[in-house]
Order: sequence, then C-alpha cells, then structure tokens
Amino acid sequence: MTSDLPYLRAYPLPLLEQVRALLVQQGVGPVLRRKYPQAHVLRTDKALYQYAADLKSRYLRNSDTVNKVVFDSKIHVVRHALGLHTSRSQVQGSRLASRHEIRIASLFKQAPEEFLRMIVVHELAHLRERDHNKAFYQLCEHMEPGYHQIEFDLRLYLTHLDHGGERLWGAAAEQG
Ligand SMILES: [Zn+2]
Repeated sequence: MTSDLPYLRAYPLPLLEQVRALLVQQGVGPVLRRKYPQAHVLRTDKALYQYAADLKSRYLRNSDTVNKVVFDSKIHVVRHALGLHTSRSQVQGSRLASRHEIRIASLFKQAPEEFLRMIVVHELAHLRERDHNKAFYQLCEHMEPGYHQIEFDLRLYLTHLDHGGERLWGAAAEQG
C-alpha cells in the first residue's frame, strides 16, 4: 500500500517504511532543512531562464534552443510532473523549427537550488531524449551527479507538504 505516499510510488517498500517511521517520529522537515539549509535566490522568470540557459550551454550545446523557461502556478504537482517540457514545430522563414518551452511548478520558486536544478536538468534532458529511458537518466546524472538522491529528497518534501507539513524555505515559509 503506497496510497499514503503518492509521490514516492516508484521507490522500494523498505524505503517507504523508513519514510513512514520518519513521518511519525521527528518528521521530515528537520531532516530536509538540515540537509538543504539555503533556498535559491532566483526570483524572476528572467533569472530562471538564464539559469537554465547556462546549464544548457554547458551540457547540451548542440541541442535545440530553449525559447522560454518560466515558473508556472498552474502546474499541479500532485497530478502532473514537477515541470513540463513542451515543444511544437513552427515555420521560421523557409524552414520548420521547434519551439521549446519549460514550465516549472511555482512551488519551487521557494526551494533549495538542488531541487530547482534537478527539475531543470530533467526538462533539459528531454531536448535530447523524449522518453524516460536509460539514456535519459544517464544524461540527467551527467548534468547532476546527485540527480536520483535529490529527486528522492524533493519527493520527500512533497510528501511532507502532502501530510500537512509547512513550507520549509523562502518567504512562504516565513509567512507560514
Ligand atoms: Zn520527464
């Protein structure tokens, strides 16, 4: 039974038992705050775009240009992914070009940089690999060696919120 941990469905049962134990004992909040004391400082879509563009030019120089990267309050992390990558073809002069947009759930505006980077890396990797296959995750790990651990910690944070925990970073956390 993993219905109480919808964000962690993909993980092995013994790990889920540990998470359940943690939730009833000290809670997940202190663990995550100790591990990730700082929130990132990207406050605008412009800064977010630049952040993604820097990562892309470092690791995916030859892939298509990303046209837009934004925080999107309409992405609901419960039902959908953490971010969204869309590409559509459009005519540019005499040729067909792809227009790529990345949307990131606005919850991650107040989050550690590691969480944001993991999501950006994931969406950038879709420039090269459409599916979540082995090559896709290898590319993710190439861009962020801690990819899998960060994704688990991020999902732990979503679980914490899902169980009524308060936000742990940024202005929203201070406001309660
Ligand atoms: Zn994906």
